[in-house]
Amino acid sequence: MSVKTFNRGVYLPHYKEYSEEKAITTIALPSEVVIPLSQHIGAPCKAVVSVGDKVKTGQKIGDSDAFVSAPVFSSVDGTVTAIEPRPGFTGNDVESVVIEVAEKQEEPSWSERDISKMSGEEIKQAVRDAGIVGMGGAAFPTSVKLSPPKPIDVLIINACECEPFLTCDHRVIVEMTEALVLGSKLIAKVVDAPRIIFGIESNKPDGIEALKAQVGDEEGLEIIELDVKYPQGSEKQLIKATTDREVPPGKLPLEVGVVVQNVGTAVAAYEACRFGKPLYERVLTVTGDAAANPGNVKVPIGTTIGHIIEQCGGFKDGKEPGKVVLGGPMTGFAQTRLDIPVVKGTSGILLFSEEMLVKTEHMPCVRCARCVDHCPMYLYPNSISSNAERGFYDKAAEWGAMDCFECGICVYVCPSNRPIVQLVRDTKKAQAAK
Ligand code: SF4
Ligand code: SF4
Repeated sequence: MSVKTFNRGVYLPHYKEYSEEKAITTIALPSEVVIPLSQHIGAPCKAVVSVGDKVKTGQKIGDSDAFVSAPVFSSVDGTVTAIEPRPGFTGNDVESVVIEVAEKQEEPSWSERDISKMSGEEIKQAVRDAGIVGMGGAAFPTSVKLSPPKPIDVLIINACECEPFLTCDHRVIVEMTEALVLGSKLIAKVVDAPRIIFGIESNKPDGIEALKAQVGDEEGLEIIELDVKYPQGSEKQLIKATTDREVPPGKLPLEVGVVVQNVGTAVAAYEACRFGKPLYERVLTVTGDAAANPGNVKVPIGTTIGHIIEQCGGFKDGKEPGKVVLGGPMTGFAQTRLDIPVVKGTSGILLFSEEMLVKTEHMPCVRCARCVDHCPMYLYPNSISSNAERGFYDKAAEWGAMDCFECGICVYVCPSNRPIVQLVRDTKKAQAAK
């Protein structure tokens, strides 16, 4: 069977071999969790607990009345010791609930529901109540995406995991296949989509087999094998590859009758509907050439990356890594400290040795046009960056900076190591401030 794909993009080394065959494990609890009240796109939550309160695993600790928001939950049994700004993964301080973890933890108890009897509205409410957000990294509140103002005829489940190194979605596909397919059907019911496509890159043959076995020949469910090319999992490229539909610039997938959800989000939707379980833990990948024991772990939200690294065996040969990144290597955030907590959208902790890092100075543009040839959004990254560099943000926006989804390909292919994504971010910030 031939694999499908989109135009442009790049073939990157996968580096999945560090952890793709490592089954999901758990770690010992930390002594403290730090749970940011804003872990999503949209309005931050306000704390609904106070310092000194005893909290239980799965108890709501923050919420907001805003439509675009998602509540947050305690990931442990413990006592609230502070509600204060703490450093987050983007480098900014975020108002957070700090919880001292109780020595004795009780197993949370959930009441099981018959999901076949749930209406679309009940499913959507369960997803909202559980605080589910896009778990591929974007962290957009899922209940908002499940209220499309236009008819939807296709739900695409993003099973690509196209960033190098990351393997947590792969493991979820292989180990939680039934929950993934049932969760996908629940989401399709909400948006009334008669067709579900699982778009999966061909470097996950066991994932493809697991999905095929689960789906069988059920009508309306398809598995589409995709080329292993970056950014295959980004929404517009995934829609093009699987349905041949083009989302117009500046528009959302719903314009072409599509909703896209990540595999982790579908599993979380299933757990929310079936058990009423809120999103207070997630699977992520700890990997890289500087990781002593790469693998995939399920961790409570709010656990610091330092604790997770230590529980996974620490740094390889005890040597400090040259770089720590939260998320994937192309779109993730470099970290300078290890007391940063994992949030709902954290897909990986990457540890890179000094040797693995290519360090070159930022040089002037040599007009090679490689960035233009590879940009999957058909933008002119050279013109965007040269204008933004001189503070001409309006001009940079005219060249399409606002349509850039920061995939990082232009930076990857640029021989002058131009800081193009940073200049795009500067442009977006300047435009938002207007
Ligand atoms: S301009 Fe934006 S969308 Fe295009 S390659 Fe660069 S980061 Fe990706
Ligand atoms: S790849 Fe780099 S050097 Fe080449 S045109 Fe683009 S910005 Fe300029």
